[in-house]
Amino acid sequence: MEVYGKTPQDARIARIAEERNIDRDTLRWLLATEDEDALFCLRKTARETADRAYGKRVFLRGLIEFTNYCRNDCYYCGIRRSSPCERYRLKEEQILSCCGAGYELGFRTFVLQGGEDAYFTDERLCGLVSAVKERWPDCALTLSVGERSRESYQALFDAGADRYLLRHETADAAHYGLLHPAEQSLAERKACLLHLKEIGYQVGCGFMVGSPGQTVDTLYADLQFIRQFNPHMVGIGPFIPQKDTPFGGEPAGTAEATIRLLSVIRLLLPKVLLPATTALGTIHPKGRQRGIRAGANVVMPNLSPMAVREKYRLYDNKAYTDAEAAECRDMLREEMREIGYEAVCARGDYRKEPETEEMI
Ligand code: SF4
Repeated sequence: MEVYGKTPQDARIARIAEERNIDRDTLRWLLATEDEDALFCLRKTARETADRAYGKRVFLRGLIEFTNYCRNDCYYCGIRRSSPCERYRLKEEQILSCCGAGYELGFRTFVLQGGEDAYFTDERLCGLVSAVKERWPDCALTLSVGERSRESYQALFDAGADRYLLRHETADAAHYGLLHPAEQSLAERKACLLHLKEIGYQVGCGFMVGSPGQTVDTLYADLQFIRQFNPHMVGIGPFIPQKDTPFGGEPAGTAEATIRLLSVIRLLLPKVLLPATTALGTIHPKGRQRGIRAGANVVMPNLSPMAVREKYRLYDNKAYTDAEAAECRDMLREEMREIGYEAVCARGDYRKEPETEEMI
């Protein structure tokens, strides 16, 4: 491992990379420091770690937000069941048409994301997954539809789903209780993640940066959970308040903290698929580029029909709501080219490596 400079700060960062671990004090320091040289070293070490795993390539995933109905009431979310937002649910033909248009544009991963919508029974969702995989067998299909039973996850996997995103939100049970109503629990969320992994999905967890009640200690718990769970993907983005939610008046998380944590996660899990999220692009005009330069290697342009984009409003002022799929792809390609990276539409599967010994 090359160490940049010889300062004690640089050595501290090199140690995170070597041990693939971080202690609480180092995390506290990295989140608070204004030492630009140390932060440069952090980003550079993380970026070079990503380059070794995936080269100068950034994977594009085509995102389709297919329903904004949700049975849950997470306090931070703009489509929670108590939200006054206008509801929509795409028909199967509309979803397939989005995939078809995405395929023509070159996309080879589709991410089907929605709230926990009871309309999508196992039968309906498995039918949709099978239809996508039959028409485009060379594509990876990622689902992001929340908590379901183990049997349901198994049926969706058997129908052809390859990957599943389910943010854990926070690995601290008390903090989880602050962000969610009592009917939701961290234990259940963790059980779902474990089921997904056991079934054989490529699994993603993640959390918001700067959510109400978050502390260095809860973030430390998040990083330890991520390190031990060893997911294939990690999605983190700044918390952005949505005005109709109970947290509508809370301050947003920052791009700066998100970028520092992206780098730390890259050092903990060198091969992880790590998006520079839309939320990061929303909170800072160069957010996605900065995220990639700090170690991220995925971006997820929106393939949803223009007519419904405004309605999938998890938070306010979401970026790129107005860009057509092709325009969005081209803008992202240009953004990546500007910083020396090639945005590719390939499946971009996780590169396998042995599990850690500390699986939960
Ligand atoms: S975060 Fe997900 S589960 Fe929670 S209310 Fe929003 S869509 Fe539903």
